Amino acid sequence: MSVYIIAEPCIGTKDTACVAVCPVDCIHPRKDEDEYDASSQLYIDPNTCIGCGLCVDECPVKAIFCEDNVPPEWAHYVKINSDHFAQ
Ligand code: SF4
Repeated sequence: MSVYIIAEPCIGTKDTACVAVCPVDCIHPRKDEDEYDASSQLYIDPNTCIGCGLCVDECPVKAIFCEDNVPPEWAHYVKINSDHFAQ
């Protein structure tokens, strides 16, 4: 199964329409989380994402891609998303 990632267009946008449709609450930070204001973008937790793709069409800036189909210039965002959740 392939997961989804959030790339550069989210920076400074952080719309969160994607958060509302995600069935497994794997997109963070949400607006009700302390981290939201300081975060430059939203991230998808690859350990929780079920790859449903529902978030893709919700994004007003087209920032969300399947990890198998990320534009080359944003390929490094796969790691940026997973690193965000690494402890
Ligand atoms: Fe959530 Fe589905 Fe998007 Fe993964 S692909 S972040 S599970 S809405």
